[in-house]
Amino acid sequence: KLRSSLRKLTSSNNSEALTTEALNALLSEISRALIESDVNVQLVMKLRTNIQKKVGELVANHSSSGGGGGGGSSAAANVNINRMVQRAVVDELTAMLTPSSSGDNNNDNNTSKSSTVKAYNMKRGKPNIILFVGLQGAGKTTTIAKFAHYYQRRGYKTCMVCADTFRAGAFDQLKQNATKLRIPFYGSYTEADPVVIAEEGVERFVHDGYEVIIVDTSGRHRQEEALFDEMQEISAAVQPDNTIFVMDATQGQAVYDQALAFHSAVNVGSVIVTKLDGHAKGGGAISAVAATGSPIIFLGSGERFEDLDPFNAKSFVSKLLGFGDVRGLMEEMQSIREGQNQEELMEKMSRGVFTLRDMYQQFQSVMKLGPLDRVMGMIPGMPDYLVPQRGDDESTMRLRKFLYMMDSMNNAELDGKVDLHNKNDPTVEKRIRRIAAGSGVHPAEVKMLLQAHKQFESMVSKMGKSGMMSKGGQAKQ
Ligand code: GDP
Ligand code: MG
Repeated sequence: KLRSSLRKLTSSNNSEALTTEALNALLSEISRALIESDVNVQLVMKLRTNIQKKVGELVANHSSSGGGGGGGSSAAANVNINRMVQRAVVDELTAMLTPSSSGDNNNDNNTSKSSTVKAYNMKRGKPNIILFVGLQGAGKTTTIAKFAHYYQRRGYKTCMVCADTFRAGAFDQLKQNATKLRIPFYGSYTEADPVVIAEEGVERFVHDGYEVIIVDTSGRHRQEEALFDEMQEISAAVQPDNTIFVMDATQGQAVYDQALAFHSAVNVGSVIVTKLDGHAKGGGAISAVAATGSPIIFLGSGERFEDLDPFNAKSFVSKLLGFGDVRGLMEEMQSIREGQNQEELMEKMSRGVFTLRDMYQQFQSVMKLGPLDRVMGMIPGMPDYLVPQRGDDESTMRLRKFLYMMDSMNNAELDGKVDLHNKNDPTVEKRIRRIAAGSGVHPAEVKMLLQAHKQFESMVSKMGKSGMMSKGGQAKQ
């Protein structure tokens, strides 16, 4: 829905189209869509006010100057207001998700709580005690394994402590993960007091020179005062360097109050959002940031140890708005691809250019990236039939075939010097047959590839126009 209201913006690209009424209607539509994506109602109202303030003036100036005829009395007449609204929505949402910067960006209408926290920096060569808190089932224990895996792979001496004696099997769950990851753990089947376990475990690991010491706590519900007391006692006992609030993306509008309750109990320093692989858009994450004044540091998107991604505000917002996670994908690829100039591709994409060769290189990188279902989902405009479900070899095969087909194209075709989408070009049909024969597929499959490319191209062009590919707005990690 939001996607279509924003699309309306881009398609009615004439600056004359937008009047104050149109702006209001549009803002209502965007607000409704954001609320449906679980963004807190009050935050949406704030966002709306901010945008209205920013854009309203321009619109008023513009409509009074009379529809673009003649001289255009103000500079505003030359500004594409549609694009401005779109950019303002993205910027405001990004600012809401970046608490350490929103203090400077957002005039007096600050969206986050009075005090804001800078993202905690993991330090090498000293113990970093990290306490995980959150509701039961939010994904703490699962995320701890991913988090440990993440830092272990980066060379930190990592370990886990299970201070959850409330849920039966909690220790076994942590132990299983730790064993698979070959990460030392501490816990007990007999000791009933989680404070004692936490204290002992942390003490031992500090003594042994561990750098990342992660403490798991039991889930709790707001009503359970006793459990809240316990969490505070654990916190007091282990003196965490950072307390991470784990929230489930499917929690929706209730997040704000929950996050606030946790924050006032144990002083949250970071947020991790889990279960973004499901249907949830995760707008509730903005509530957690607002309630705690703390940045989001990671997103969880599945049950495997690899399914944890460093948070990037622009990517998150563009996904929330339905554009797909291009920047995140780009960053992931950057570390893998040599030779090809990433900056150059970004620059091209920001101009809306995306050739078959670009697609070829993207697909090749994707094949190297590992868990295909995860990465493919991040490519905007990726048709559903190409995003593999877990264990779906058919989609992997299809992708391979696509690569074979592009292998059979010549340079002119790959670089768009010959337009394979041009139905009026009599050579195109012949070219498609040649490519099909060369790669051992049916011509209809080549057409499917071209259709996928077309979809990509139009998505990239839309993003280029929206400024979604521009730099900046990244969370400070
Ligand atoms: P805890 O009670 O907070 O420790 O939650 P758990 O870590 O035990 O997770 C609760 C359930 O959510 C488990 O079934 C996990 O497999 C699942 N889960 C956790 N994180 C994710 C995620 O990012 N994606 C999906 N799909 N499931 C998750
Ligand atoms: Mg747990």
